[in-house]
Amino acid sequence: MVKTYGPDKLTVDRMLPIKALANAAKHSHYFTGKPCKRGHVVPRDARGECIECARILNSSEYKKAKKPRRLLTPEEKAERRRTYYLSRRDELKEYRQINKDKIKSQKQQYWKKNKDELKQKSKKYNEANKDRMAEANRDYYEKNRETIRQRKREYYLKNREKFLQRQREYRQRMKRKSD
Ligand SMILES: [Zn+2]
Repeated sequence: MVKTYGPDKLTVDRMLPIKALANAAKHSHYFTGKPCKRGHVVPRDARGECIECARILNSSEYKKAKKPRRLLTPEEKAERRRTYYLSRRDELKEYRQINKDKIKSQKQQYWKKNKDELKQKSKKYNEANKDRMAEANRDYYEKNRETIRQRKREYYLKNREKFLQRQREYRQRMKRKSD
């Protein structure tokens, strides 16, 4: 017997390849033929969730293995955040791409509206963490001394003409003053 999916008993060969089409046709599932982020090539439900992923996430072994957040060590928390981030990365990227201008103007508006407060906050933060930040900077410099030097040198070489020009202008100005 051919396997069917959902209350509408869809077979894979009757499924539509795109979520929007499936939603419009009120299909419970659709099938893109492409692997999900975990590599399953199986139908997706109407929300776009891979049904194999959904099965795993709902399985009792998985739920048992998944500790409640408060019992996680910081490392496990970071790992979970990372897994979540990776699983959503493409989605977020697409979202940001589509809404680039909107996000930018929102940020600008937010900044404009809260400028004084934000400046104040950042000043306070810097003030409170002055020593720590100076130390962090020093550490960073110590550890990356060679890279920093190299970068400075590359920057200089790239902009040498500009620097030399500026120097010449400066000297001329000084000379004119002393004349
Ligand atoms: Zn999957």
